[in-house]
Amino acid sequence: MMRHFCPLLILLFLTITPAVIAIDSVTTEIADSIGIGSSDSIAVGAVSVEESVRTFQYPMSEERKALLISYSKFVSRWRFLSFFIQVAIFLILLYLGLSGLFRRWAEKISRKKIPMYFFYFLFLTIFLFLINLPFGYYRGFLIEHQYGFSNQSFGEWFGESLKNEAVGLIFGFAIILILYWLINRFRKWWLLFGLGAIPFAAFVIIIYPVVVAPLFNKFEPIRNQEVASAMRDLAEKAGINNPDIYEVDASKQSSKVNAYFTGMFGTKRIVLYDTTIRNFSVNELKFIMGHEIGHYLLNHIWYGLLTAVILIFFAGFLADKILPSFIRRNENRFGIRNLGDIASLPVFLLFITVFGFITQPINNGVSRYFEYQSDEYGLKLSGVSGEEAAIAFDKLSVFNLSDPEPSALTEFWFYDHPALKKRMENVKDFYKKQLAIKCTDKVCDFKNTEF
Ligand SMILES: [Zn+2]
Repeated sequence: MMRHFCPLLILLFLTITPAVIAIDSVTTEIADSIGIGSSDSIAVGAVSVEESVRTFQYPMSEERKALLISYSKFVSRWRFLSFFIQVAIFLILLYLGLSGLFRRWAEKISRKKIPMYFFYFLFLTIFLFLINLPFGYYRGFLIEHQYGFSNQSFGEWFGESLKNEAVGLIFGFAIILILYWLINRFRKWWLLFGLGAIPFAAFVIIIYPVVVAPLFNKFEPIRNQEVASAMRDLAEKAGINNPDIYEVDASKQSSKVNAYFTGMFGTKRIVLYDTTIRNFSVNELKFIMGHEIGHYLLNHIWYGLLTAVILIFFAGFLADKILPSFIRRNENRFGIRNLGDIASLPVFLLFITVFGFITQPINNGVSRYFEYQSDEYGLKLSGVSGEEAAIAFDKLSVFNLSDPEPSALTEFWFYDHPALKKRMENVKDFYKKQLAIKCTDKVCDFKNTEF
């Protein structure tokens, strides 16, 4: 849903942030699963994709450790680089007067507002897609191949990128219609936009798992019967009857491992990657499942939605204060008449990009808090030991080449999940604490933790 270079989804970014809650970083894992690829099992680095999908090296070899260090370095540099690239693209677009030009083209096709908006948005989408293509190809295709994650052909990758754009075009256009209708009618448009974002975001979260996700992957019941029944038992133990648990063919896009909870009301579901099922023991999977059940029952999607809506209100308020004078000062150069002119959209996108970057620690801080909560919940529910849960995290780090110990600032700013090393320590401590409580009545059997 949130791919690195889907500019049309930038506007959606805040609304869709809480749509998927995973065991490992959503912004990289889920995001990549939509837009990366490779083919022909190119052997790069130390492991070929085919091998890595089937059996990962665990514990980590020296070669894999070197890969982990180099991939983590790349990822942390790319976080800054991609931000500056986006900002530069919007500035170029504005200062060359392209946005005004796209609007004039659209006006030539139709004078009626809705079709004119549509054609403007289509031109902008195509422009942004093409200009972002080399960066998307480098990050999503080349790098993911180089580190042995991806197994898609260029055609498959490109096809998914187009599909992704089409989804962005539909949702983005809906948002634009609402946004500009409000701006042109109400002085306090941002207040109404913030209110409207609540049902809209809920709608997106409801339909995402049943309409959008199946466009990219197949979702089926878990094939391994032992795993399937263990997962079902766990959900039932937590009081979820007839749980919707799926196995997704995530290996189609990447060998990375993950699991997530998504949906609202009738579309709530827990999804395990086929790569995870293949590489994790039943106990480790029980812990992961317990973690996702934690997200499910602790209503984290709702709290995530609340955080996003508060940020949308704040963003709208600031945009209303800052953007009109920015547009007025550059009226001739940008070719934009005012905030209510559809050609002001790149100004909004630029603003949201910067706002999103600056406010990331808020979203991420909330998310990390939920992750700790779910980790502890998962441990309690599954009854696995702290050591076993810690191995699950270690595997996430080794298989996904994610840095278990990033700097404090990097974690604070960019990590929507706590650093894996901290999560490992936390589950071990939590387990010991539980054990201490249990042992007060001289019963130290932890396998039957009451839930
Ligand atoms: Zn999680």
